[in-house]
Amino acid sequence: MFFNMTTIFYCEKNCVANHKDDLIKFGKKALIVTGKHSSKLNGSLKDVTDALDSNETEYLVYDKIEENPSVECIMDAVESAKSFSPDYVIGIGGGSPLDASKSIALMLANTDKSHLLLTDKSMPHNEALPVVCVPTTCGTGSEVTPYSILTFHDKQTKSSIPHLIFPKLSLGDPTYLSYAPESVLKNTAVDALGHFIESYINTRSTKISRMLCEKGMSMWQGIYGCLVSSDRNYEDYENLLLAASFSGMAISHTSTSLPHGMSYFLTYEHGVPHGKAVGMFLAEYVRCADEKMKSEVLSLLGYKNCDELKNAIHTLVGEVYVTADEVERYTSSLMNNAKKLASTPFDTDINVVRQIISQSLSVR
Ligand code: NAP
Ligand code: FE
Repeated sequence: MFFNMTTIFYCEKNCVANHKDDLIKFGKKALIVTGKHSSKLNGSLKDVTDALDSNETEYLVYDKIEENPSVECIMDAVESAKSFSPDYVIGIGGGSPLDASKSIALMLANTDKSHLLLTDKSMPHNEALPVVCVPTTCGTGSEVTPYSILTFHDKQTKSSIPHLIFPKLSLGDPTYLSYAPESVLKNTAVDALGHFIESYINTRSTKISRMLCEKGMSMWQGIYGCLVSSDRNYEDYENLLLAASFSGMAISHTSTSLPHGMSYFLTYEHGVPHGKAVGMFLAEYVRCADEKMKSEVLSLLGYKNCDELKNAIHTLVGEVYVTADEVERYTSSLMNNAKKLASTPFDTDINVVRQIISQSLSVR
């Protein structure tokens, strides 16, 4: 049995103001890493800068983090912040700025190294600067995971960097979610669902990771209900954010499996948002699990069978169309992803992988 969650995590209304003493203790200079717009609209950036101002902490805001951040985006942020020499990095936003903040914190602690450090853990290097996360979406769980997922244009896909960087502190305020567009709430909630399913049906699952998934999956019907109606209250937003964070704690122990591995092609080549891309493959992944696991997952989620689960996901986020050639190409690329194949507790020969991909997508 092993459990490792080194992030101090708070989740409540006015979280940043309530815990500003925990935030400011990381030093006198902070780099804030965020996306282009949303943190200015939902109040999260102001909450953080107010907390820093109250202690006269100097800060620099880098607000050019793109969705699915690339290595180039990370290195641009590092170039912009190098001379400022921050003591710590605060990521504010969805999974993209949070993941970016971890890679930027690593590169800022190693300004003599090139971007190759982002793919080579064996290179001698310093530990990343401390990272603080303020999540504003409800899916990735990045606020409590050690993962930083980047787009690698040279490999034409996305993958995790090999370094594990847990945030030191995460401050979640569910009210930020009330500003998110419907599509962002739905896509990111489906990402959290993916984390639960892929962590539960996983060779690395443990009693504690399964417990987190069981709790999260048993919350799904309530979450689904509040996603399909657009009538939501504070408690709904709190459940959405907590479920995402539970899902992050679960995948911190198991990592994700085939649906995440498969999703990266749809995001890179078709621009499909991360959660929706993951969601496409979940029902077929569950269908391949052994009978006991399949019925546990379906009963926790409240569905009679895999088709019902698939329809529910399509209702939330829609479908994705690909060509037969793409199915073949994604199948052979996935067969090279030894890590995702090893995490899958059922036979994953090329026919099984091809079947999951082709049955999950609408093939034109
Ligand atoms: P995201 O890419 O961070 O954000 C999606 C969009 O939502 C952006 O346009 C963003 O605007 C906007 N947005 C964010 N919060 C908002 C709010 N409260 N109100 C209004 N708009 C808001 O989306 P995400 O799905 O959270 O993150 C996806 C990334 O996380 C992917 O790269 C994925 O691979 C990664 N991921 C990481 C982990 C992990 O363990 N680290 C796990 C799963 C996925 P702005 O750009 O203006 O901010
Ligand atoms: Fe994910």
